Amino acid sequence: MIAIHPIIKYGPGALLPAFLLAGCATTSVMPKPYLPAVDVPALAETDPVGTGHADAADDPAIWRNAADPAASLIVATDKKAGLYVYGLDGKVRDFVAAGALNNTDLRTVRLADGSSRILVGASDRTDKAEPRIALFSLNGSTAKLTELGTEPFLPAGHAPAEAYGFCMGAPLAAGELARAYVVLKDGTVTESRLVERGGAIVPEHLRDVKFATQSEGCVVDDATHTLYVAEEDAGIWRVALAAPALAGEAFARVGAADGLVDDIEGLGIAREADGRGWLVASSQGDNAYALFDLGTGAFTGRFRIHGGAIDGTSDTDGIEVVLGDFGPEFPEGLFVAQDGDNAPQAQNFKLLSWRAIREALGIR
Ligand code: CA
Ligand code: CA
Ligand code: CA
Ligand code: CA
Ligand code: CA
Ligand code: CA
Repeated sequence: MIAIHPIIKYGPGALLPAFLLAGCATTSVMPKPYLPAVDVPALAETDPVGTGHADAADDPAIWRNAADPAASLIVATDKKAGLYVYGLDGKVRDFVAAGALNNTDLRTVRLADGSSRILVGASDRTDKAEPRIALFSLNGSTAKLTELGTEPFLPAGHAPAEAYGFCMGAPLAAGELARAYVVLKDGTVTESRLVERGGAIVPEHLRDVKFATQSEGCVVDDATHTLYVAEEDAGIWRVALAAPALAGEAFARVGAADGLVDDIEGLGIAREADGRGWLVASSQGDNAYALFDLGTGAFTGRFRIHGGAIDGTSDTDGIEVVLGDFGPEFPEGLFVAQDGDNAPQAQNFKLLSWRAIREALGIR
């Protein structure tokens, strides 16, 4: 696949540079569209990740501190090095050198002894043939991560497979803390339940569903027990988790009608207190984010991160969004996006106000 610089724009009738025409003649690669979107500025950015001169920052997760919303935390991966914790000012609060952790998610779980824990999970691709789920406990007061272990979960003797995407959802049966989904690079989505065993929290593999080509981004909508998966070159699938077997149903497709330019990367769920909600997707191919109404499935609108004092985003992989009070700067919710180009510094993550996104798109 030929990489085309993401800021090159091709409108109808535009003349293509000769090198691209030459490329088209021999490879049939078509230039990607650059679809309309409204601009929303970033309000803050994280410190750059430690791995410079590389595609390294990848995927965030958000913990909302309900007792002190402005003290909420962001957990995010440097996919070549490990896991960071940031405050809403973007400053590093903790880092664990845990290896090649690609995507991360978190949720509060209740243990058998009645205590609760902020459980952070990540897809561990340190061994490119043996996918693992790495687990951590996050202390919401100190912002420190504690490693709980990294475990393989596929049946013994499975074919070599690489861990890629990761997300978690609510438990679906008694005796489990959560469900965990690892998207393998070949498009296989694996479901495990996380259980307490012998004083540890470990994954137990349950079911799979396979999409045709490379897939990564995933998110669970706990309100409807639905898993959404991004097949990068093709579209977004939804999977009903309460069904006896996992099966994909087409939700959105690459193309102007659904506002998606491949690759489709990170996915997030923005759920209002009144029950309305949107799926947000990284339209990586034209540096934008597309929203879909979770009630109707309809394409709602698109935005880019641009303007203001902080650089915008390009080539975004992971995103996350959580609605609710995050303090005065983020009064209705927090949106976080990986930024592929934070020159002259290493890659990082941008923070946006959900209110600003909502008002720019005219929703509500
Ligand atoms: Ca990247
Ligand atoms: Ca994530
Ligand atoms: Ca990509
Ligand atoms: Ca990807
Ligand atoms: Ca940037
Ligand atoms: Ca910057």
